[in-house]
Amino acid sequence: MPFTSLGLSPSLQKALNNEGYKKPYPIQKEAIPAILEKEDILGIAKTGSGKTASYVLPILMNLQGNLKSKNRHVNVLVLVPTRELAIQVGEVFQLFGSKLSQKIKTLAVFGGVSINPQMMKMQNVNILVATPGRLLELVESNAVHLSDIETLVLDEADKMLNLGFKEEVDRILDLLPKKRQNLLFSATLSEDVNKVNQVLLNKPLVIKIESDDDNIDLINQLAYFISEEKKGPFLRYLIKHNNLKQVLVFTSSVYKADNVANKLRKNGIDAVAIHSKKSQGARKETLRKFKSGELNVLVATDLLARGIDITFLPHVINYELPRSPKDYVHRIGRTGRAESPGEAISFITPEDEHHFKIIQKKMGKWVTMINSDSIDF
Ligand code: AMP
Repeated sequence: MPFTSLGLSPSLQKALNNEGYKKPYPIQKEAIPAILEKEDILGIAKTGSGKTASYVLPILMNLQGNLKSKNRHVNVLVLVPTRELAIQVGEVFQLFGSKLSQKIKTLAVFGGVSINPQMMKMQNVNILVATPGRLLELVESNAVHLSDIETLVLDEADKMLNLGFKEEVDRILDLLPKKRQNLLFSATLSEDVNKVNQVLLNKPLVIKIESDDDNIDLINQLAYFISEEKKGPFLRYLIKHNNLKQVLVFTSSVYKADNVANKLRKNGIDAVAIHSKKSQGARKETLRKFKSGELNVLVATDLLARGIDITFLPHVINYELPRSPKDYVHRIGRTGRAESPGEAISFITPEDEHHFKIIQKKMGKWVTMINSDSIDF
């Protein structure tokens, strides 16, 4: 089924082809026609499902020929929990928006960087992608007005609420016109998300996409028994010996992430750590390099890794186990895509053994365990 049969224009279809989007993902098949019809949507789907394009494409179509040009009055507002996601979503709007005959301007705004450049860029913006706190600051300084919003998107709503943005989101909702289209995307339907969904959505089309957890069978999982002090040399061995490219290594702390990346680099392996202590610019550049394949190894903590969207991630290595079984599944889930099953490797110290049993039990799958002593490295 081509994208045009969902109601998208031939120019967008061409852009999609260029990007290698051959056919719509399930969420796109359902969401695109409904959003074009101005329906509300509740999409239960994670990163990797294609949820971003499922709202970006029809929103762009709906804006075509329908732009309101009152300055500093945006037409579409996309609320996201993190800067990484803001940048990512902004880029998808820009990518496909640039292919349309009518000029549509998108801007991504987020905290942690100076507000002034963002205020200056607000001229003639049609689509604003924002984290809640920064959006309110911009509203308070009259840099942007929300009274002409026609479509509101809440992306990764569960994370937004988990990060404590509920109050900001409520304040923002109060500033929007009552009549508008609402699109809510969330990886889970938690009680909190459900509450928001009930006040926000008007007879929504509910779309539930099979999650990574269900895809777990596609992933080759392996675990190595290893002592703490041998983890570093063993990681280097695995990467070099197997000539691994695009490896995401998880650690449980910022300190450890830096430490692991430094040691890899000292041993001639191209690795960079990404975490909350790095500047926005540095994070963006690191992600770009990793995604494009220029950088072999990315060492990350769970928080930072959550927003990373990489379609084909062949290798995930748990240098340290996450505390929750859910996070374990989330980490390794990045490698399990129907088109490209990957490999997830975990390092298990004697102290981890019990915890890893619990993780496996919760996941409902037993992982092949290998003793690293049997390997000469
Ligand atoms: P998302 O779930 O929106 O973060 O998208 C996950 C990844 O899938 C992104 O890298 C998209 O570029 C890619 N993608 C989305 N839709 C399609 C499609 N129909 N065909 C191929 N790739 C896609």
